[in-house]
Amino acid sequence: MTTLAAYAANSEQSIGRHFDEPSSSTRNAFQRDRDRIIHSTAFRRLEYKTQVFVNHEGDLFRTRLTHSIEVAQMARGIARTLHLHEDLTEAIALAHDLGHTPFGHAGQDALNDCMRAFGGFEHNLQSLRVVDQLEQRYADFDGLNLTFEVREGILKHCSIKNAKQLGDVGERFINKTSPSLEAQLTNYADEIAYNNHDIDDGLRSGLITVEQLSKVELFAQNLAEVKAKYPKLEQKRLIHETIRRMINTLVVDLCTQSAHNIAQHQPASVAEIRKLPQLIGFSRDIAEQNLKLKQFLRKNLYQHYKVNRMSAKAVRIVRELFTGFFENIGLLPNEFQAYAEIDKARAVADYIAGMTDRFAIREHRKLFTVEEYL
Ligand code: MG
Repeated sequence: MTTLAAYAANSEQSIGRHFDEPSSSTRNAFQRDRDRIIHSTAFRRLEYKTQVFVNHEGDLFRTRLTHSIEVAQMARGIARTLHLHEDLTEAIALAHDLGHTPFGHAGQDALNDCMRAFGGFEHNLQSLRVVDQLEQRYADFDGLNLTFEVREGILKHCSIKNAKQLGDVGERFINKTSPSLEAQLTNYADEIAYNNHDIDDGLRSGLITVEQLSKVELFAQNLAEVKAKYPKLEQKRLIHETIRRMINTLVVDLCTQSAHNIAQHQPASVAEIRKLPQLIGFSRDIAEQNLKLKQFLRKNLYQHYKVNRMSAKAVRIVRELFTGFFENIGLLPNEFQAYAEIDKARAVADYIAGMTDRFAIREHRKLFTVEEYL
């Protein structure tokens, strides 16, 4: 690790954990958090959860696990360039999607709909709930007892209503203050990762084409550069060379603009960072190009009729699972029944949110198909 800037998060001056623990002799506090995240059951489930494509559609598509690893890789690189705490960004990146439901955004929207009368469902909050409460591995506490800094990074956004119930990590949404630079940059790494891998997966699946993407400036410019340098390159390599240049364009711009913003404000500590507006960001030109890319993906990939068909099935599965369990908590596995006596809707939501894509499909069959062997 390179020398940390004065405004970087510092593992030795962490705001701390809910439950005091002696420090580790071999790892700093953020490395320890990362290790706890990697050993959690929610982390292993990321392998069988997806964002856009459903897990059984093909072996080459990103899963939430490979997505999280890509985010960690980019976040560490950005952190190193800006002299920020790499281990903290890695821990945040690996945990940021732990609360996602099966079936990506369709699953989250469906569960949120089912939970509307019971406080709603939000994957960000659920990620925090997983690391704060739902993981049951340690003798002395529920959850993973992570540092404030990692938990702050996991909670990217949050309504004021929910923030009021969250205590420490909720305060910044009420006071309108900023999180650490490590949390800010991991959020950008997330966005850079998914925009680019969705292009890659979208092209591989045939749902979008290079011709369509040629109308998106960020893609077109980098494609032209590759074509000029390698006029005879086969399609597969052409796409990869273009995407790696897009990622580079975004990462370099983010580092340059953020370093400029930091230099303008000269923050002397992480406490000062929290009082300043968010300093991590793209230049105006790249922010605009990035927005156009997102708009392209929304219209042409996320709302492609083939994706819509899978999403519609996902919504049906999640909704029916919710109703099935809610109407009869006796159908829930034993370990969820005790909590269902206290808060039925939340227990059902926790159970469904924890499912992988394939587990949800199987569970749906077990509940609703008479022939299915239990
Ligand atoms: Mg993500």
